[in-house]
Amino acid sequence: MKKYTPMMEQYLSIKDNYKDSLVFFRLGDFYELFFEDAIIASRELEIVLTGRECGQEERAPMCGVPHHSVDTYIDRLVTKGYKVAICEQVEDASVAVGIVKRDVVRVITPGTLIDTQLLEDKKNNYLASVIYLNNGWGLSYTDISTGELFATEIVGESKESRLMNELAKIQPRELIYYVEDSFKEQLLIKLQKSFNYYLNPFHIKTININDLIGLVESLNITNISNSVLEHNIGLKATKTLLAYISETQKRTLNHMNQLTIYDTNETMDLDIISRVNLELTETIRGKSKKGSLLWLLDKTVTAMGGRALRKWIDEPLINIDKITERLDAIEYLKNEVFIRVELKEYLKKIYDIERISGKISYGSANPKDLISLKNSLKQLPHIKYLFNDCKSSFIINLFTGLNDHEEIVNLIETAIADEAPLSIKEGGIIKSGYSEELDELRRATTEGRIWISNLEKEEKEKSGIKSLKVGYNKIFGYYIEVTKSNLHLVPESFIRKQTLANCERYVTPELKEVESKILGAQDKIVALEYELYINIRNFIGNYIESIQRTARAIGQLDVVYSLAQVAEENNYIKPQINNGTLINIEEGRHPVVEKVLDNEMFIANDTSIDSKYNRMSIITGPNMAGKSTYMRQVALIVLMAQIGSFVPARNATIGIVDRIFTRVGASDDLSQGQSTFMVEMSEVANILNNATEKSLLILDEVGRGTSTFDGLSIAWAIIEYLNCNIMSKTLFSTHYHELTELESIMEHVKNYRITVKEDGDNIVFLRKIIEGSADKSYGIQVANIAGLPSKVIQRAKELLEKLEEKDIAKNREVINEKHKETGNIEEVKIEEVRVEYIPNTKENEIIDQLKSINLLETTP
Ligand code: ADP
Repeated sequence: MKKYTPMMEQYLSIKDNYKDSLVFFRLGDFYELFFEDAIIASRELEIVLTGRECGQEERAPMCGVPHHSVDTYIDRLVTKGYKVAICEQVEDASVAVGIVKRDVVRVITPGTLIDTQLLEDKKNNYLASVIYLNNGWGLSYTDISTGELFATEIVGESKESRLMNELAKIQPRELIYYVEDSFKEQLLIKLQKSFNYYLNPFHIKTININDLIGLVESLNITNISNSVLEHNIGLKATKTLLAYISETQKRTLNHMNQLTIYDTNETMDLDIISRVNLELTETIRGKSKKGSLLWLLDKTVTAMGGRALRKWIDEPLINIDKITERLDAIEYLKNEVFIRVELKEYLKKIYDIERISGKISYGSANPKDLISLKNSLKQLPHIKYLFNDCKSSFIINLFTGLNDHEEIVNLIETAIADEAPLSIKEGGIIKSGYSEELDELRRATTEGRIWISNLEKEEKEKSGIKSLKVGYNKIFGYYIEVTKSNLHLVPESFIRKQTLANCERYVTPELKEVESKILGAQDKIVALEYELYINIRNFIGNYIESIQRTARAIGQLDVVYSLAQVAEENNYIKPQINNGTLINIEEGRHPVVEKVLDNEMFIANDTSIDSKYNRMSIITGPNMAGKSTYMRQVALIVLMAQIGSFVPARNATIGIVDRIFTRVGASDDLSQGQSTFMVEMSEVANILNNATEKSLLILDEVGRGTSTFDGLSIAWAIIEYLNCNIMSKTLFSTHYHELTELESIMEHVKNYRITVKEDGDNIVFLRKIIEGSADKSYGIQVANIAGLPSKVIQRAKELLEKLEEKDIAKNREVINEKHKETGNIEEVKIEEVRVEYIPNTKENEIIDQLKSINLLETTP
């Protein structure tokens, strides 16, 4: 076999260590990819595939991108889930013997982005690691652009589902894992499919996990959980994470200095389905932020605040003291209108200093970043002053011990020019007055330039050539230009340098001397400015930890601002929080629906759920009546209260719930090949297996995915089980009117219906929930409103009449049968419940009055 060329040998030996990455191999002004990498990249980036001699018969497939625009190409590949290894020349080409040494300086992966357009301001980009050891799960995650680092371990009962829920919350962009059990690996792979993670097995066998010394030990560990980690699995997950980061980033990251250990039992555990169904951070359809709870609550001004708010929503609390602290802070800022308005002005001037500190630690912060940092830190004393007399312990704690960073502000102020360029290699960064040496060099160039600018005038006078010009170009430097018609006037001292079509260019010894002084000084200036800049950046690097603390305090304060602002704008109230079992909401509203209704007014509804009389609400009413909206509204109000937000109601008392479960509609996008009914049942199974007495359950039309009697029986059995065995608070909507019989059979069950008004063939939705059960589904009327052809509607009516005659007798049999099974032998009558018109608001009266006006008899 023929030998490869030396360069190709070098490439192949490097590529061998980065098999799972696309290697960007630096050759001059280009990054080149070879072989399989080239084929993939040319396809994904739509760039031309060429070839290069490599010593073999066939040329190596090759494609390349220019070094100055490499970032956008890398972004595109990383978005598609590829890892990119950047291979640079690591020695000076001019001193190299043979082939210039090259090595990979960094591997860019979806979870290790730090300085790119791909990062969203108000969203974290998490890299997570999961390990399974000693019968427990360790989970650790970080956002390396901000330096946040967390660890937890999940052991004991239903640990798998708790791990899944935790990952659903974090939504890492990339997950590395180490599990020996193939069943557990399957779990992760399944999860990856639903969330599109980049999944990456960690080759831990090559390093002993206990040997990753020095990685965790250097961290400042905050343990916010009460339970001490017994097995240290969480810490081992962190070690794995840090090992992966040092392997890919190849540098120490000072901004990852703090590890927060937490316990998943200390926040509300929400499963994937409930997060999706409640549209906490994105809508089900369209997957957009707009229309979600996050969208509604987000009035944050800073990037830090945006990210922190997301975390609040993702992690509702269950500890009364913590919730109350937040609520009090929001109440304070809601009432202090002037402080709130002024605070917003200061927050507006604050940049993403959390990510800027990440860039400083990474060595990629540019002069503009430092100016942004300075302008942001300058706001701090103003903000602190605003809260001098503040009584909220939450806000006071945020600012205790926070440094104003005057030394940094002053340093940047005196050293960095306000209009400094992005590049640090072209000078123009450092202000005059900061460095004696730099000022000296600058003076020299200025003098030289003045001398040159006088030269033109002098030489014109001396030679009498009116059109004589002094110019500069990169190749020849400074020159004197004379047009062809004046050549006879050129003095002897001019030395000819270049001939153009209609002129000649000359230099003089004096001009050359001054030029070399200027250019020499210019080079020195650029080098000196670079050095000064790096020193300044490194100096600031010593303060990273305290800048981060400031950044995070600003983020929290911004969330308080946002929630106070939303509470004011939307007329929310402060909920009463306690550890009791009662949830009582007066005139509650759905926070998002009330904002997006175009013509209709939102009708508020009351809710009273407790563990005794009203544990299980069975809600009936036609389609479109507002059942789902009502049930979600209850869940959202409870959830909002537990993140510490004010809520859309006139009054609310919330006994804290440990979990909220929802089973709403057919979640087709999650089904992935399973039938809708199968998905529905596995979701219900999850609820029945994990709900507790303290949980709130929203079950929307469970059982409808199969035949009527099947569905009815399943629904019936589920209600019995929830009510008698689990005793959770449940809202259950259904079209099986038979279920309303349960109220009279079982304790703690109560019927509700959403009212409608019959209007000839049509129905009018009144949206009010009242006690009692509906007698009809009004399916045909709703179909009519939806615009089904009148022939179909007519035929459906005929059929319905016939079916109803038959069915009443049959249903009675079935139900009585069921009652016998549950031990309740009573005969049950199916009662007719009339749907009445309820004039429940002033608006209705007004509308009626308007309708009764005779337009022909009125004047303008
Ligand atoms: P159901 O679950 O009974 O089929 P939905 O809850 O989906 O009905 O409600 C249908 C529509 O009715 C909603 O999209 C919303 O526009 C409107 N709606 C629901 N509840 C209310 C309310 N309380 N006030 C005003 N409009 C409402």
